[in-house]
Amino acid sequence: MNKANKTVRIYAEWMFDGEAVQPVIGVLIEVQGKVIKAIRMNARADEAEEAFPNCAVLPGLIDGHVHLCFSAGNTHAEVVQDLIQAPPEQLLRRAFDHAKQALLAGITTLRDCGGPGSVPVMVRELIRRGEAEGPEVLVSGAPITTPRGHLHYIGAHAGNLVDVERRAEELLEAGVDFLKVIVTGGNMTPESDRLSCQYGTEEIRKAVQCAERAGKYVAAHVLNREGVRRSVQGGVRTLEHCSWRTGVAHHKYDPQLARQMREQGQFASLTMSAPTWRKVVPGVAGLDVHLFADLDERFASEREMLADGVRFLLHTDAGVRQTPFGISLIYGLRAAELELGLTPVECLRAVTSNAATALGLEDRGRLGIGKRADLLVVAGQPWQELSALHQVRAVWCGGRRVV
Ligand SMILES: [Zn+2]
Repeated sequence: MNKANKTVRIYAEWMFDGEAVQPVIGVLIEVQGKVIKAIRMNARADEAEEAFPNCAVLPGLIDGHVHLCFSAGNTHAEVVQDLIQAPPEQLLRRAFDHAKQALLAGITTLRDCGGPGSVPVMVRELIRRGEAEGPEVLVSGAPITTPRGHLHYIGAHAGNLVDVERRAEELLEAGVDFLKVIVTGGNMTPESDRLSCQYGTEEIRKAVQCAERAGKYVAAHVLNREGVRRSVQGGVRTLEHCSWRTGVAHHKYDPQLARQMREQGQFASLTMSAPTWRKVVPGVAGLDVHLFADLDERFASEREMLADGVRFLLHTDAGVRQTPFGISLIYGLRAAELELGLTPVECLRAVTSNAATALGLEDRGRLGIGKRADLLVVAGQPWQELSALHQVRAVWCGGRRVV
């Protein structure tokens, strides 16, 4: 049998299959090549080549919104300054370091939501060809933004409807996996205003049409409620940050809009970057009173949205200030449990099965026959205590053992 079809049997004591915790002791997963060939319950450790007693197996994690080229510096200004000054070779090296860190933490899929020029596509290709080690990476390339808008320093500039179509076609031609459209201002760009929108529904819908013609979709950056309305009506697939902000430190959830999101199958992609870890990592991000109040309002509106059944994924936005690759996803999940009132299982679904569905990756995020062999093995039972995710014992990415 050649190496590509090599079979390996992996034993773990417990299993979370991406949807639920299996109520059995002893699971045997047979991996052949890149996929799961069989799963058997009530198995014994001595039936496997790789046995992990007192450990749980779960699908490799998916971080649905990161920036591989960003430095995770101390402040927004530092991150931006670095991006503007760093030569492409440096950004490329950094992206590979970040990808490796994610892999070591059990993250086997990353969606890069914006980086400069051709760097993100190069990163994806070099990893795919095996010339660098990392998770599978999906990229938007340069985000579509206005000439002075949020992320303009790495953006594909489009100030009107015609330019939105032009930039969208160029990016799709360059081979991006999805389009990122910057609908509102953002925190990293002081000359933008997160309470204002940069695009109307027409521009958003145009980008969605271009993406859909290529079998792809749009992820929208949204930091205020009017931006949510335009993005929902424009037909984007994921609303990044999905903020219900209506004023300074003021958020107001809108159940009618949320119902439309649900009916249209759109996803809220919620950001668990460093400031959200306030109850998990003491002293993080130098939280001031203003930011604290904004977070209180933000989480209150998100709890309402989740109670109404809007589909969601959780992501780190790794690369932004004080949010490194790897460990941030675990901090983020622990923070989501405390701040959003989710159960550990709901948190785990948000970075496995739900994230896979949101990203259109039905080949992963669940453990089942024929699925990609992306596996994470940790000591303990993370559905009882999410911090068990810190105890990584083994990782397989596309059938290849990487940890
Ligand atoms: Zn981002």
